[in-house]
Amino acid sequence: MSDLLARHRAVMPNWLALYYDEPIEIVSGKGNRVVDASGKSYLDFFAGILTNMIGYDVPEVREAVERQIATGVVHTSTVYLLRGQVELAEKIARLSGIPDAKVFFTNSGTEANETALLLATYARKSDQVLAMRQSYHGRSFGAVSVTSNRAWKNNSLSPLNVHFLHGADRHLTQFRGLSDGDYIAACVDDLRHVLSTAVSSDVAALIAEPIQGVGGFTMAPDGLFAAYKEVLDAEGILFVSDEVQTGWGRTGSAFFGIQNHGVTPDMMTFAKGLGNGFAVGGVVARGDLMDNLHAVGLATFGGNPISMAAANATLDYVLDHDLQANAARTGAVIIDGLREAAPRLPIVGDVRGKGLMFAVELVDPATGEPSPALATRFMEETRRSGLLAGKGGLKGNVLRMAPPLTLTLDEAAEGLGIIVGALETINAEVA
Ligand code: PLP
Repeated sequence: MSDLLARHRAVMPNWLALYYDEPIEIVSGKGNRVVDASGKSYLDFFAGILTNMIGYDVPEVREAVERQIATGVVHTSTVYLLRGQVELAEKIARLSGIPDAKVFFTNSGTEANETALLLATYARKSDQVLAMRQSYHGRSFGAVSVTSNRAWKNNSLSPLNVHFLHGADRHLTQFRGLSDGDYIAACVDDLRHVLSTAVSSDVAALIAEPIQGVGGFTMAPDGLFAAYKEVLDAEGILFVSDEVQTGWGRTGSAFFGIQNHGVTPDMMTFAKGLGNGFAVGGVVARGDLMDNLHAVGLATFGGNPISMAAANATLDYVLDHDLQANAARTGAVIIDGLREAAPRLPIVGDVRGKGLMFAVELVDPATGEPSPALATRFMEETRRSGLLAGKGGLKGNVLRMAPPLTLTLDEAAEGLGIIVGALETINAEVA
């Protein structure tokens, strides 16, 4: 064990996730690559869990932050007017597609979801909330309540009254084998059943990830969210789309993940990639919902000048370089390549993804059962070959990959080669 790892273990919680048998200390980054303390370089296919949206050491972001620091003002609280905050809010409100949208900035996705839940429960005067099975929304009390996997939450004491709906979990349920249409009809029946029997008053909101991130990049069938929305609208129930992983063009086919489903939500929450590594999150919501809170509020660091400088520069870069189109183009190379390789690799149970958000599910070839051990083996093998990936999912057997949206076609081909090579090596070991 390295000295730094020993010191980490001594003073940091033992539940803090660390990847790899010998965890990596990253010391520098440039473009879509990072370098560890031993000098080894990696193509980054996890992007700091989707935070390094436009790669490392981007001059536009660095210079924007340096310009702000040069003013001498790192932060003076948010009780004064901040130009960068207003400018960023204007851009996000416009891009959201939400009518009369207003924006509140936070420091993380967890806080953003907490704020959305506060807005929704307050507006609807109800503590009843709907969420999706296999969801992950953060680690605060409210966000944990709407998270649906016992491995990702510790408390059973919830400040909210939460009912979990079906979505991306069809393969794990009695609905396995149903066609998309029949499954959607069954899910909507279940929603109606929940609304008519399980709840004790009006429901405030449904919160959902368009593609479940921690859940293993799992996807509800096209059409499900639109069908849910119809029922919710009839009851006045609000729809919150958690775009912490799926926002800013990552899915290639839409700027926000829920737009892939033709649904305009009442609120969206965001974080991760927007600051390209600087901590920034927030909620964009219908103005009437946002303005509805009566208590005076602020977030001391939410919307601070440094984060705003980074976020404005990052978002401008995404738009100026049409990185949504790049995500579609480079993601297709990788997803198509993985799908092509899958039939000759019995350890591959599933390949799925949209744009630069793709996953491979690993299974024991003898039983077809999820294999977290093979996922761990893949991580070590790709690390050796110089590629960083992520793993997770409900059973810990899903390889999750989401490179910066600046990935080039050459890097896409290089990454695909490393991934397929690692899968072939592992497949040969266990076949
Ligand atoms: N929502 C989603 C979909 C996430 O994936 C995460 C984090 O992984 C969060 C919320 C929580 O964000 P944060 O870790 O910034 O608090």
